[in-house]
Amino acid sequence: MKKLALILIAAVVAPSLILGALAIRSLRDQRFLLERQQSIVYQGVADSLAKQIKSKLEEKQVEFGNEVQTLLARTNESQLVNNFDDALRTDWPLAAVGFVISQDGQLLSPSLFSRPDARQFRLDNDRFFCCDSVEVYWTANMPLQATTNQEVLTTKSEQRSVAPTCVLPAGLNTNGTLSKVGPATAEFVQLMGTSNEGMVARFLRNQLKVLLWYRPTAANAISKNLIFGAELDLPKLIAELRVLAKVEPTFAQDISVAFLDDTARPIALSDTNFLPRNWKRPFVASEIGEALPHWEVAVYLRDPAKMGHSAQLATTSLGFLIFGLLIVISFGCWFVVRCLGKELELARQKTDFVSNVSHELKTPLTSIRMFSELLNDGKVDDPKKRQSYLSIITAETARLTRLINNVLDFARMERGEKKYSFEKCDAAEVVRSTLESYRPHLESAGFSLRVQLPENPLIVRADRDALAQVLVNLVSNAEKYSNGTKEIEVATVASNGTIDIEVLDRGVGVPDGCEERIFEQFYRAHDPMSSGIQGSGLGLTLAQQIARAHGGDIIYRRRDGGGSCFSIRLTKQS
Ligand code: ADP
Repeated sequence: MKKLALILIAAVVAPSLILGALAIRSLRDQRFLLERQQSIVYQGVADSLAKQIKSKLEEKQVEFGNEVQTLLARTNESQLVNNFDDALRTDWPLAAVGFVISQDGQLLSPSLFSRPDARQFRLDNDRFFCCDSVEVYWTANMPLQATTNQEVLTTKSEQRSVAPTCVLPAGLNTNGTLSKVGPATAEFVQLMGTSNEGMVARFLRNQLKVLLWYRPTAANAISKNLIFGAELDLPKLIAELRVLAKVEPTFAQDISVAFLDDTARPIALSDTNFLPRNWKRPFVASEIGEALPHWEVAVYLRDPAKMGHSAQLATTSLGFLIFGLLIVISFGCWFVVRCLGKELELARQKTDFVSNVSHELKTPLTSIRMFSELLNDGKVDDPKKRQSYLSIITAETARLTRLINNVLDFARMERGEKKYSFEKCDAAEVVRSTLESYRPHLESAGFSLRVQLPENPLIVRADRDALAQVLVNLVSNAEKYSNGTKEIEVATVASNGTIDIEVLDRGVGVPDGCEERIFEQFYRAHDPMSSGIQGSGLGLTLAQQIARAHGGDIIYRRRDGGGSCFSIRLTKQS
């Protein structure tokens, strides 16, 4: 039993407790996990929008190239070089300024003396196109090429304009405080390299300027050596980007999206009614890239406290689940231990039963053998003694028969094969005849048997033999547990449709707390070693099962003044 309990503890209880403890520990990380899951999903939203913006810019790049080709096809080239600014802005409103430069970086148009914007453009870019290295954000696919006299400086990291509240570990996203977009210092000719088109961004007086350039492909002698370009009109570009600021309906309840410029000012919103407390502190954000340096797609939680609540809810439900599982496991273990205990107890009782029955068989057999040998040898001359020996042999044979019947009946009941032949009969008459055949044995053992039966018949529906067997078992117990007070009474009590056949003794009585258990198979309330009383622990079990098969029961009560009263309760028949 101890060994089994230890195995159970080692194999089930301990691992369950460890698992429970680990699960409870993991509950604490619940909020973090939830935040992590949501941030991965929302980061995906931000990344995809940033990608859409980049694609839009690439579209604009292609549009610009086509526009240049159209203008070249339509207009005289030398005229176009002079008029490019006006012509381009008329056809392609996204251009703030249109410009033309030669291969060696000479700005051919617009003229320094044309409109103010064009003039400013020239002042800003003349030196950049021809010879100066400046800080640029550059998106061409080609690496920067070092010119003979200029070193290309490597890009340097810069602070991001926003600081997302949720930062994923490296590898999952590029969030963090440092921007993935850094400026390089280079000349315009370096940037162009051998590319046919490109886009470059730079900050002038803290204002972003985005330049597109295009080198015509199939062109004539003049335009082959020219590069056409445009400075983008950012407010118009923003107006075009605004349509992209949308959130899928599945997320619309939870998040809002904004496009932020390099100063973290919102320029496009998915929901104009939603205003976060701080634009610079989105939940997650994604940088758009070098074309729009330090511009970000930012995702804001509509209700930041909601995640806390969800985490709390998940933690509580998981907590309850773990707690419930631990209770179920504990209950299961307790139940298994209890069943094991019962099984072991039954196994022990069965072993006891075998030794008890063997002993019970041996005792009458010894007497029978001894007295029959004496009689057989003809050594007993006294007729009284011979009569007495014959009575003992008869009584012991009856005891033996009773025991064997009990064991066989028990086995039949266990297999569900016990058959009854019920008939209407007089219970008083069955009691009377059974006791009369048992009386000589009792009286020879010094017992007084008082029987109180009514004159009128007590009609019951019963199997006479089974009823007699129950009565004999009870009387035999009254005899066995008499403890020297050899008084046995049998009486019947009829009331409310039932008949009780009571067997009363003045013996040792049933020990406290064993009143129910004495009806269990093999259970013996008195220790056979100390009491010296033999038995199989089956008598009352059988008696109860037979009584119940009759629709009645066996009832035990302690008797006033000491002793026991066992009643066979039967239903009265009319
Ligand atoms: P057993 O063969 O041990 O007598 P039973 O099933 O007849 O088996 O009885 C079960 C137990 O109930 C007995 O071992 C005894 O402890 C208790 N018992 C039965 N009858 C009496 C009685 N008349 N007085 C005291 N104890 C009794």
